[in-house]
Amino acid sequence: MPRKRADFPSGEKEIGNMKNELQKAEILCVGTELLLGDIVNTNAAFLSRRLAALGIGVFRQSVVGDNPGRLAEELRGALSRADLVVLSGGLGPTGDDLTKEVAASVFGRETELCAPALERIERYFAATGRVMTPNNKKQAMMPKGATVFLNDYGTAPALALENEEGKIAVLLPGPPRELEPLFDTQVAPFLKKRRHTVLVSRNVMICGMGESAVEAALTPAFFEAENPTAALYCKEGEVRLRVTAKADSEKEAREMCDRVVETVKTSPVGGDIYGIDVDSPEAALVAALQKRGLCVATAESCTGGLIAKRLTDIAGCSSVVAGGVVTYQTREKTALLGVPEELIAAHTVVSREVAQAMAQNVRARMGAAVGIATTGYAGPGGGSETEPVGTVYIAVATANGVGCRRLSVSPMRDRAYIRTVAATRALVDALRALEQNNSNKKDS
Ligand code: ATP
Repeated sequence: MPRKRADFPSGEKEIGNMKNELQKAEILCVGTELLLGDIVNTNAAFLSRRLAALGIGVFRQSVVGDNPGRLAEELRGALSRADLVVLSGGLGPTGDDLTKEVAASVFGRETELCAPALERIERYFAATGRVMTPNNKKQAMMPKGATVFLNDYGTAPALALENEEGKIAVLLPGPPRELEPLFDTQVAPFLKKRRHTVLVSRNVMICGMGESAVEAALTPAFFEAENPTAALYCKEGEVRLRVTAKADSEKEAREMCDRVVETVKTSPVGGDIYGIDVDSPEAALVAALQKRGLCVATAESCTGGLIAKRLTDIAGCSSVVAGGVVTYQTREKTALLGVPEELIAAHTVVSREVAQAMAQNVRARMGAAVGIATTGYAGPGGGSETEPVGTVYIAVATANGVGCRRLSVSPMRDRAYIRTVAATRALVDALRALEQNNSNKKDS
């Protein structure tokens, strides 16, 4: 049965100060530099992510130059559509920094000196040994009735203005090193107080099925439900299914998510789930090895060290990554890994037999519990009619023996894609082999 939107808690729909639920937000970034392409708008990306985490949907991002007329027009438009407008930039001391003045006029407020803000600016200059110029005082002038967020990271305080409809504009300084901590330490708690509902998300990580196959396996009703919502995000070789529930309490939202996650686990997608709420296959594998006190070793050919690189990207991996070798030329597979020349001659270098020998030998030579190996054709050249570009043999050796998969990535894909997908698959196969070992031990 499709899930229904949760009932609103009483009062949530009321309009007025403190009652607006802040469901819809817009982001408005100010700065001619942004329009000219001189700087990349990282603030918009940061703010969108943070607002989504607070359960506030961002419906529009806009950029406007340092022009008071156009800024006022944009701000009025945003306030007519959204409950919350977050602005960045234009809070500096110079003449073209006009965001605060424009916002004051849009909200119909005069400005006044904010003594704590001035004191903070004076302290900031004293601490950094710089001389405070008279125009810095402008940064302590605040629209009447504003909530001021004092800035420990620079001179311009952030502020929030609220109109009689309960609509809010939050003004933040442009430099990300100021905007980001100000948002996290002061603005987010301020916005949270205005929210009546809690949002919880869970991420189901899938490898082995494409995005469309996952969608087809879970029915349209599953994705059309409004609470919890379910959305798919596709990455090379894997799919993330994010389930998000909105409820009056975290416990309730979590339980709502858990019920949906259970549905996914018992669906045809279940067998391809490699983790829940894990960041990546490498993070999941490192955590699984750490839990068991075991080590992994890698022997890579076509992935060229990508598996080892991804494992060693995880902080704290040194206790579980024994090492890795890249044996790209055939003779190195024999010299460094001891793969018999006759085996290579009999089966060719891109074969199940060679991949298995590589995995077993690297495991034995490095004294690791798990050995991972890859050999294949990443293209664009190479391959044969029976073993085209995109064919990769992935072997995983453990105390239980050795297993091998023949992965077939479309030869239309480029080299980087084929290598990334092969590395992802190898990491997931190693994770599965480890879990399999565990369940075998439990069974015996
Ligand atoms: P300041 O007091 O430094 O003048 P401000 O609030 O007036 O701060 P701006 O003058 O608009 O901010 O921008 C200052 C700097 O902050 C820019 O030169 C740029 O490096 C950075 N910046 C501004 N807006 C953005 C943005 N949207 N994304 C990333 N960086 C930004």
